Amino acid sequence: MDKNYDIIIVGGGITGAALLYTLSNYTNTDRILLIEKYDALAKLNSNSINNSQTLHFGDIETNYTYEKAKETKATAERVLNYANMLPKNKRKGILESCQKMVLGVGEEEIEALEKIYSSKIKELFPGLKAIGKKEISTAEPNITYKRDPKEKIFALLSDKGYMVDYGKLTLSYVENSFGKGKAHTHILFDTTVKKVKKSQDGYTVFTDKHTFNSRFVIFASGTYSLFFAKSMGYDKNLSILSVGGNFYTSKRVLNGKVYRVQKGGIPFAAIHGDPDITNPAITRFGPTVTLPIQLERRHNGTSLDYIRTFDFDAPTISSLFKILLNKDIRRIIRKNMLYSVPGIGQYQFLKNEASVIVPSLRYSNLTFAGNIGGIRPQIIDENKRALSLGASKIKGDSIIFNVTPSPGATSALSSALEDALYVSKSIGLKFNKEKYESALGPI
Ligand SMILES: Cc1cc2nc3c(=O)[nH]c(=O)nc-3n(C[C@H](O)[C@H](O)[C@H](O)COP(=O)(O)OP(=O)(O)OC[C@H]3O[C@@H](n4cnc5c(N)ncnc54)[C@H](O)[C@@H]3O)c2cc1C
Repeated sequence: MDKNYDIIIVGGGITGAALLYTLSNYTNTDRILLIEKYDALAKLNSNSINNSQTLHFGDIETNYTYEKAKETKATAERVLNYANMLPKNKRKGILESCQKMVLGVGEEEIEALEKIYSSKIKELFPGLKAIGKKEISTAEPNITYKRDPKEKIFALLSDKGYMVDYGKLTLSYVENSFGKGKAHTHILFDTTVKKVKKSQDGYTVFTDKHTFNSRFVIFASGTYSLFFAKSMGYDKNLSILSVGGNFYTSKRVLNGKVYRVQKGGIPFAAIHGDPDITNPAITRFGPTVTLPIQLERRHNGTSLDYIRTFDFDAPTISSLFKILLNKDIRRIIRKNMLYSVPGIGQYQFLKNEASVIVPSLRYSNLTFAGNIGGIRPQIIDENKRALSLGASKIKGDSIIFNVTPSPGATSALSSALEDALYVSKSIGLKFNKEKYESALGPI
């Protein structure tokens, strides 16, 4: 272990791992240290049990703008390019193709899907196919089985369906960061970064065990990135809404992913049905929306840090008030809050969500999986008095803070590229653009 590094990465989820991979393979430094507070990689939101395991492309995410869909497509393609470089036996269990559609139920949702299908999105995704009841029944028989024949349904079927074990992808990025010429690249587990202080030529990083010096520091600390940013005086105009998500499971009733129509401007997906890459015998329905006062799910010791990050000042409260004036957000929160209540919650979830996708499901077919599901750190932008759609990156003097709500696992590799270019410019590293582009696609 060294004392001085070019770059210290704080956090061993998928964001930190993708960064380590990118810096290690495509820049000319090997002086990189990744510090993780738990005893292994991807213990929190990047773990497969805590997210929906979707490689997001932007084709069936009806709440995305065209620009967001275009950007998401490019980031997903980068992940595919990475996976395609892996030998077949290594890729298995990390990323697998699966059927994927967005289902519209009733006239309003069908109209929304038809509008999307006739928009520029179709040019971006020429493989997207509009399908009616008959084709839906062939692709997903349980969507039409026992459905009221009078109920109208319509779907957009994607040719870009993939499920990903983001925990394993995290491990794969790290595994491919070492090798020849990496004598000074290290990972430190069971070590918590407590404080980072500006020094003459970079930063001093204080952990609960050691102290290090680094020319550049990158926070890839998930929900904790904004906590550190604020404690260092950055972005006082941002706050965080911890949006938790729970799942219900049933025996496998769907062939692939079935998303639902979500209104534009809502930063999280509507409840959907997904296969589980780690357990082909089940279907997962979720994630619900909960608002835990925590930065880490099921970890009350993080509540105080959440309160500090949230910052109960006048701009935050007035932003939250304005966000809650949106009746769609209010309706989602009201409905979802019930879903974690034992008994009644399961009935409501079945009635409002799961049976809309699979009408033959019964109460006894569902199990509440209360021990899975992570936190999406949704950013409250106090200047706009609104929730931001997607990730937030705060860049400072030789420092970056990555705040990563969904689809943060999909976009980790692209986020790492942006960071690597910024770091290279800031501290004079060489970034090998040619090598990067030939491996992962155009920059
Ligand atoms: C319910 C749900 C569904 C989702 N579905 C999808 C999906 O289908 N597709 C998708 O692309 N994204 C999805 N996401 C989002 C995705 O899971 C996250 O964006 C992504 O995992 C974030 O990765 P990360 O590495 O930034 O954060 P994390 O995985 O949270 O990792 C942060 C790491 O930093 C460490 N850390 C924090 N503080 C310190 C410290 N002081 N010192 C040392 N280490 C520290 C933590 O221990 C942790 O290991 C979903 C999220 C949720 C909650």
